[in-house]
Amino acid sequence: MAIELPRFDTRDIVGVIGAGTMGMGIAEVAASAGHHVRVFDAVEGAAVHALDELATRLDSRVKRGRITSERRDEILGRIQVVHKLVGLAKSRLVLEAVVESLGIKVGLFKSLERIVAKTTIIGTNTSSFSITEIGADLKHPERFLGVHFFNPASVMPLVEVITGMNTAPEVAAAVHGLMSTWGKSPVFAKSQPGFIVNRVARPYYAEALTLLQEGAASVSTMDAIYRDCGGFRMGPFELMDLIGMDVNLTVTQSVFESYYGDPRYRPSVLQEEMVAARRLGRKTGEGFYRYTPEPEVSDPVDMRPAKAPSSVRVFGNLGPAETLVEQSVEAGLEVTHAEGEGYLLVDGVYLALSDGRSAVTRAVEEGRSPMVLFDLALDYRKTPRIVIAATNGDNQSLNVAAGFFQSLGKVVNVVLDVPGMLVMRSVCLLVNEAASAIAHHVCSAGDLDIAMKKGVNYPKGPVEWGESLDLHRVMTVVAHMHEAYGDDRYRVTPLLARRALAHRKLSD
Ligand code: NAD
Repeated sequence: MAIELPRFDTRDIVGVIGAGTMGMGIAEVAASAGHHVRVFDAVEGAAVHALDELATRLDSRVKRGRITSERRDEILGRIQVVHKLVGLAKSRLVLEAVVESLGIKVGLFKSLERIVAKTTIIGTNTSSFSITEIGADLKHPERFLGVHFFNPASVMPLVEVITGMNTAPEVAAAVHGLMSTWGKSPVFAKSQPGFIVNRVARPYYAEALTLLQEGAASVSTMDAIYRDCGGFRMGPFELMDLIGMDVNLTVTQSVFESYYGDPRYRPSVLQEEMVAARRLGRKTGEGFYRYTPEPEVSDPVDMRPAKAPSSVRVFGNLGPAETLVEQSVEAGLEVTHAEGEGYLLVDGVYLALSDGRSAVTRAVEEGRSPMVLFDLALDYRKTPRIVIAATNGDNQSLNVAAGFFQSLGKVVNVVLDVPGMLVMRSVCLLVNEAASAIAHHVCSAGDLDIAMKKGVNYPKGPVEWGESLDLHRVMTVVAHMHEAYGDDRYRVTPLLARRALAHRKLSD
């Protein structure tokens, strides 16, 4: 059916189905934007209770001076609980946020279609089901789409506006526009497993779990590295504890199964064990950290002070780490230069940025020994921490490297000599996954970066990050990891290879 370009204004009633965490957050956002909102929940009393809880939250914001009492009354005054689905009949837009069950959602939309006008737009907040599949049996699937908010909906700016195969593009465009007027940062996505964020973010968790299984470093050391060197707001382990181990595992399993067992999304055996042990994170009082009786304080394991080096020779250009040369001069070290492929020679020890190979592989292949590798940092000037690894944990060389970085004012952590180290491997695999999502037309490169910055607070979008590192470097790291592990999980996305080899951008 051809559909007229829907235009929304604040006189339009917004219906919300499901008064749980997400539904009530969405109701608050819509009411704050000026709409009258009708909320329905199948459990008697659930919506009234949720509205009371919202009132309490708004009261506390009034007390803290964040909003005025008039504003609180305005928002609450616009939200009305309805006790039957038919109470949503006059809605211009209905947003569904009931439990994540395909059967329940499909049945609900069939009933809803009998009640609302055929021009009413219907959106689902599903995190894992295909929008095409949920909408397939609707009489008017062209007005059906995914409108995926992030938790807490009132705070998180990202909304993925997801089109199924039968969604009219005009409907998606109108909802995208509406989300902007609600103060959100909407992005367009196609209905493919995980949409944007839940797909592209997988390596952030998966690689951390692999590194823990391999014993690369302690949990608290790794979290500190991702925060301080990678610029991520939360380390992967503290983040999994916050999300809930079971929720995180379910998303991974769902994406893995939807891609027919593609090893790229393979769940972690370690995480399955954590779920089996009911170590679900904050909500059960224990995950990677303990939260009861008091939250555990566990510091990263930092290296002891070592001697400053007497000489630093720079071979070629260090690429993303080039500022280390300037910092060495500023620190008063004696720096000399020579031709070469981008490494340092510090008191007889070779120091190089990780390229996806382990230090031992690189020492053998390049014939440079002793070799110490350092990990990627978002900004080598600002990072308070530098991560190093050496062949067989060679202490003497590690001390030389530590002395060098400490003389630049950095705290130093040693990790096991794993291919790709920590931040380098995670960032390159995020870029690789971003390339895969772009290649599959899930979204544009620009929307992908917005999604990862606004949905999971990444310090840089993977596309921008990959381009600033140089796509060729990213491709090389991923290819080296593929070689080291012999696992197709680490295969290079063909689009990344094509763009890297042609010196083009992912965003072209
Ligand atoms: P929730 O369990 O907090 O709330 C679900 C609500 O739906 C409950 O109040 C329940 O009584 C009600 N409900 C169940 N069946 C119903 C029906 N047939 N009709 C009306 N109401 C019904 O769940 P949630 O965490 O708010 O998640 C809701 C949806 O949002 C799910 O699809 C979930 O995948 C998705 N989502 C959740 C998050 C999150 O972090 N919680 C983030 C993004 C998307």
